[in-house]
Amino acid sequence: MERHGRYSVCSAYRLCVTELVDSSHIWRLGYWSGICKLKVMPKVKNLVWRMSRGCLPTRVRFLDKGIVCPTNCASCASNHEDLMHVSFYCPFSIEVWNRPGLWGSVQHALSNTASATDAIFSLLENLSVELVQHMSTVLWSIWKHCNLRVWDDATETSATVVEHARNMVVDWHLANTPVVLASSTNHQPTTTLDMGASTSLQHNVTMLAASYARKIQM
Ligand SMILES: [Zn+2]
Repeated sequence: MERHGRYSVCSAYRLCVTELVDSSHIWRLGYWSGICKLKVMPKVKNLVWRMSRGCLPTRVRFLDKGIVCPTNCASCASNHEDLMHVSFYCPFSIEVWNRPGLWGSVQHALSNTASATDAIFSLLENLSVELVQHMSTVLWSIWKHCNLRVWDDATETSATVVEHARNMVVDWHLANTPVVLASSTNHQPTTTLDMGASTSLQHNVTMLAASYARKIQM
């Protein structure tokens, strides 16, 4: 249970790794609670967790596991596609990080840490809630782009990658905004009021998306 008395996946995971199973051999120091606190879609949290555990299936990792495959990056001329390259040092990734103005923060984290994982923990710990949202969704969007290149031979621009990330943040806010939920659940069951509630809900959604888009300027 969490402090507020409710069950969460994080509390169940904590119980498993600290009390039910002897997992001391796989413990790794890091700002893990920062991943649990992320205000993003579960699939983004999952990706950040896999990155932090060092188990993202990059081509270099495949080779480390004995799978013979090319190790070149799908986006540039580098022949070393590991987590550090894909996430941060690929020229395409740098272009993506630059668009929302996050490259400076990423560079600072990289200069003060020894690995991509530690850099991610540093960003999780030191950026504001809003910037951490963007940092994590940009990571997801970069990895998505990488997979599109490898599996579908599809090309996206850095602007599209950033737009995907921004949309994911907006979608999370729309799905987690009490004003929207209240509008959708408290309307009266009459035709007139239904139309009013629907209009109000649509207005709230539009205003939220518009204001957030302006705020982020990604
Ligand atoms: Zn590259």
